[in-house]
Amino acid sequence: MPGADCQGSGRRLLHIGGITPFSTVDWPGKLACVAFLAGCPWRCPYCQNAALQSVEAGELGEDELFALLEARRGLLDGMVFSGGEPLSQAGVIEAMRRAREMGFEIGLHTCGAFPERLAEALPHLDWVGLDVKAPWDTYDQVTRVPGTGEKALRCLTMLLEAGIELETRTTWHPALLSANDIATIGHDLASRGVRTWAVQAYRSAGTTGELPDETVYPSDVPAGLADLFDHFEFRRA
Ligand code: SF4
Repeated sequence: MPGADCQGSGRRLLHIGGITPFSTVDWPGKLACVAFLAGCPWRCPYCQNAALQSVEAGELGEDELFALLEARRGLLDGMVFSGGEPLSQAGVIEAMRRAREMGFEIGLHTCGAFPERLAEALPHLDWVGLDVKAPWDTYDQVTRVPGTGEKALRCLTMLLEAGIELETRTTWHPALLSANDIATIGHDLASRGVRTWAVQAYRSAGTTGELPDETVYPSDVPAGLADLFDHFEFRRA
């Protein structure tokens, strides 16, 4: 439900929509298992995981995840909690603690919807990929939920203060963000001390098809932006 904090139901710790046992792309430089947790309160029109926006979509539980991790001890660098929005579920904190205790480094993909839960997660995290969806004052035009820019900015500030390895990423569809918006985001992030930023060109695969099938190219990125970062990448989302 938009705006709700999805706690899950019953006695399960986690509601997981899918698990990728080996991934080299979800945590740059690491071989990781990825669990896609169900539930997200936001409604971005380019979402490629819309089927995971409801917590009910998570048919797997923690038993499946920890059995898989047990079998892969020593074979993987880490475990990434992705989604949906993984911090939608209160049980993710305990799951992070347990996976870390098993010897896995912990990564998190988050949209920044749950600053309080991110604060709880901080002691368990080694790396975070944080979406930055728009200039802070026009965030709701992308997420379609009021008050989202303020939450995402609180998450960014918290992560920078904690000094956790951080990749920020912005999905760019020309109907949602102009080149000026991209420049505004890039300059804002650099001024706050962000060192890694990826601009991801919209891809229609997996979306509801609501946006016009247009995309952007590396040459559309305003000149000089890449130089503001230690690591800048233009990707296909
Ligand atoms: S925040 Fe992520 S998971 Fe949630 S609707 Fe937006 S793109 Fe989808």
